[in-house]
Amino acid sequence: MMNICMGRRPRRPVKYKEMVTMHYATIKECDVANGPGVRVSVFVSGCNHHCKGCFNEVAWNFDYGEQFTQETIDKVLKDLDHDYIEGLSLLGGEPLEYQNQKGLLPLVRQVKEKFPNKTIWCYTGFDFEKDVMGKMYGTWDETKELISDIDVIVDGKFELEKKNPSLKFRGSENQRLIDVQKSVKENKIIWADLEDEENKKAN
Ligand code: SF4
Repeated sequence: MMNICMGRRPRRPVKYKEMVTMHYATIKECDVANGPGVRVSVFVSGCNHHCKGCFNEVAWNFDYGEQFTQETIDKVLKDLDHDYIEGLSLLGGEPLEYQNQKGLLPLVRQVKEKFPNKTIWCYTGFDFEKDVMGKMYGTWDETKELISDIDVIVDGKFELEKKNPSLKFRGSENQRLIDVQKSVKENKIIWADLEDEENKKAN
């Protein structure tokens, strides 16, 4: 059980100077593998989980790839600005390493301001209850702000022994597709309703 009381936090203006150094490995403009519909996916650099069988080992290094800047955000916003794009997916590396949370927050804020109806998915190796809500949420303002804007978190490390290629939008059976807003509101894990996500896309 989670023991969290939260509401939508007041918005602060988005300022480039708030950004910290973060690097990203790649941006996919039309990704159909990491969430429902066609999505823009940002693969950030830096991950300390070091899962056996990781699909993206080069991105363990926090300095790998290109520096993430306001110009990068502008490009992502432009890529998202099509009716056929369902939303944004954040992957890595580890989006919820603290320095990546700081780096991603201006992106997430700007995406939600400009495209309130597009969904944001985030893939993390951290455990949602134990790490994200149990530790980060009460410690870092960035986590609170990100959690208020992320629709779905796919949580848990990739476990090679539990790998199952038939799973939709996750690599191993221990990983969960968590509806963040419902889970926080009801103080228990609610899985994302993929049919509902598909319906949103159709409407
Ligand atoms: S959390 Fe993801 S990026 Fe990090 S080691 Fe595991 S599979 Fe690789």
